[in-house]
Amino acid sequence: MVYCPKCKTLSEGTVCGFCGSCRVRLPGPDDYCLLTEQEYVWASLLDEVLRDNGIPVVSMEVLDQPYGLRRFVHHRVYVPYGAYEEAKKWMTELLDSPVSFEE
Ligand SMILES: [Zn+2]
Repeated sequence: MVYCPKCKTLSEGTVCGFCGSCRVRLPGPDDYCLLTEQEYVWASLLDEVLRDNGIPVVSMEVLDQPYGLRRFVHHRVYVPYGAYEEAKKWMTELLDSPVSFEE
């Protein structure tokens, strides 16, 4: 597993799977890694659950306007590498749970 400081992502192999950069290194426990990109409502739920469990979270808004009229607001959620596996576990639990939101 390698870490790309530019994309803040983890990849298998020796180059970044997102930008193709070779300037990757081994992740340190305090390196923030992209956990997931979710719709706003899920990202904020996830943010809350992780914080409740003592995991520091950084989330960033991503604006995506591929069709001009509709605007999609997604959030990218980052957690430190040291808490990545645990955060992933919480994420799976949360996204698999039968909670639904009305449109
Ligand atoms: Zn990269």
